[in-house]
Order: sequence, then C-alpha cells, then structure tokens
Amino acid sequence: MSQVLFHAVARPSIILRSSRFLATVAPGSATRHDWTRNEIQKIYDSSLMDLVYQASTVHRQHHDPSKIQLCTLMNIKTGGCSEDCSYCSQSSRYSTPTTASPLLEVGPVLEAARKARANGSTRFCMGAAWRDVGGRKRGFERILEMVREVRAMGMEVCTTLGMLTPDQARQLKEAGLTAYNHNLDTSREFYPQVISTRSYDDRLGTIQAVRDAGISVCSGGILGLGESDRDRVGLIYEVARMPEHPESFPVNALVPIPGTPLEGNERVPHDTLVRTIATARIVLPETIIRLAAGRNTLSEAEQMMCFMAGANAVFTGEQMLTTPCSPWDVDKTMMDKWGLKGMESFEQKSVARKEGTTLRDGGVSGDTHREAIRP
Ligand code: SF4
Repeated sequence: MSQVLFHAVARPSIILRSSRFLATVAPGSATRHDWTRNEIQKIYDSSLMDLVYQASTVHRQHHDPSKIQLCTLMNIKTGGCSEDCSYCSQSSRYSTPTTASPLLEVGPVLEAARKARANGSTRFCMGAAWRDVGGRKRGFERILEMVREVRAMGMEVCTTLGMLTPDQARQLKEAGLTAYNHNLDTSREFYPQVISTRSYDDRLGTIQAVRDAGISVCSGGILGLGESDRDRVGLIYEVARMPEHPESFPVNALVPIPGTPLEGNERVPHDTLVRTIATARIVLPETIIRLAAGRNTLSEAEQMMCFMAGANAVFTGEQMLTTPCSPWDVDKTMMDKWGLKGMESFEQKSVARKEGTTLRDGGVSGDTHREAIRP
C-alpha cells in the first residue's frame, strides 16, 4: 500500500505540455498497430485543449458523434472471489460491505435484460466474481443458457467471468456471445502493485482465447489506482500494439471501497480522465471508448467533456457490479439535452462483422428489430 501511495505522490506535478507531435498525427490516416510508447506519451502530454480537439476530429471521422452505446451491467454471482485485486469489494481477502451470493438463476437475469432493453440499452453484460470458470460445469451451462436467451432478444451480449480457456471461449461464442470483458487494468509495470494472484500474461492469454474464438474484446483499465501518467500511457500502448485493437476500451475511475487496500485513494482528477480518453480515441480510432465505473461522480458538464474527447459508450441502469450507476431516466434527459442518441445493437461495424451469418440469418439487423429495441 505504501508503495502505491508513493507512486502517486512521486508523479511530477508540472508537465510541460506540447502540441508539436499532436499536429503530426494526421486524422483520417489508417488505423495503426505499430505505435511506439514514446509516440503515445507525446500525444498524452499535449496541451489538453489541442488534445481534445484532435481526438474529437478523429472521433467524427470514425464514429457518428451523436451516438452513445447504452450498456447495462448485472452481477450474476457476487463476492467471495479468491483473487486479490486491490480495488475490488468482491475479493474474499478484504472485509468490505459486499456480501457473497451464489450464481443467479436464469429467470431473474432474463427479466433484468428485458428491462434493460425496454429502457433503451442495446448491450447486456453479465459479471461473475471468480478467478475462472474451471470446475463449474453446471454453473457454466447456466451462463451459456443466459447468453443464448439474451442474444435471442436481439441484444449484444457480453460476459466478464475471469480467465477463460480456448474451449470455454468457443462455447460462449457458439451460445451467441458478442463480447468478452477482461481488463488489463493498468500498465505491465504497475500491474504487480495492484494484483498478485494472476499475471499480466495470464490476462493477455484470456484475451487471445477470446480473439481466437471470434468474440469481440472489451479490455481497458482503471484510473486512480495510484498509477502514474506513464502507466496510463503504458495501458494504451499494450492494447494499441495488438494485431486487432479491442472493439471496446473501458475507462474506469476508481470508486474507493471501504475495506480494500485502495480505500484511501483520491478521486482521479477530471483532466486526467479526459486526457486518457482523448489519447485512447486517437490511438484506437475504431474502438468504442467506454466511460465506465465512477461516471455517476461526474457532473453533466464533466461527462460531456468526456464525450467530446471521444468516449461513446456508458453503463446505464440501476447499478454497476457493486458501485452506483447513473439511472436510465437521468441519462435519457441528459442525452436529449445534448443531442445524443443510443446506438442500435450491432451498429459498430467491427462487432457486426464478427457476428457474420448469425446476424444476417437471425434477422436482427432489420428495421423491425431495431424498432422493437427502441425504448
Ligand atoms: S476484480 Fe474480479 S477477479 Fe478481481 S477480486 Fe474482483 S471479482 Fe475477483
């Protein structure tokens, strides 16, 4: 813990912001996978006004700037996790307000998915707090059933279930899974200060299994862990070098949970959040940048700055996994005011491509379906 705090304090308080390099990053150029860490650092270190302008320009070239993906997250198995992620209230190693409960039955999960769809969410994500799905045959079969049923509603389906083997990824794909969330959390160097029970390469192995199964990847990080600017750049660098960028890059702002080792961490400054989002937008131009945990602590104006900088997805509904979420009605009012609309399911081209014939033959791309999923 003391190391974590030292890391935060040691961060230089004054950084010389330059926009010279930013001017050479030509908007509209091809998506790159050969970024150097130094290049990304220079983008990140640019003057914030120029950085947001450039990110917004890139965003408009690759995405409809009026569209935000609305995703609802549900915890289908809470707490009691054997891992030691130092930010997480669900780890059994810490004494937190979260109470452990078993894997939910299929019925209540489908009911929640229907409610999410009726409120305009087009992606439904289910999370289970455990290290991996190994040795949970019956539980995994129940999850496959949930995936099949939610997919049959015409929604994008995502799960976050810890580490996966290639065979488990294949079964999820066959059940109709659209995306799998597995965050890298932070840079390779800082990671060991956050988690010790599984390695960075373990995480990359699961992401590879998901990729190989033809599932879209959702992988990003958490800000406010005590990391430095260099670590935030290191996280973006790690995904920027992948042969295929993640289709989704969540940017979470730590919500410190009493009882966890990071309970005393300070809230990440808003300009750091915006700077990270804008850098990710420029480096990962086709990716959906997801403004995730901690959004409910931002004012409406702060959220809009994140959208200006290229964020184009949010979690909305009743709750994140264990922390509060902005409710649908508040988000609808905010989006109406600012001229934003919800994305339709499978609107992101790279995600639709992965669905292939399933999407064409399943009749979910037609207007009738799209009408059906509007609130
Ligand atoms: S983040 Fe996931 S793997 Fe880590 S302790 Fe929490 S539930 Fe377990």
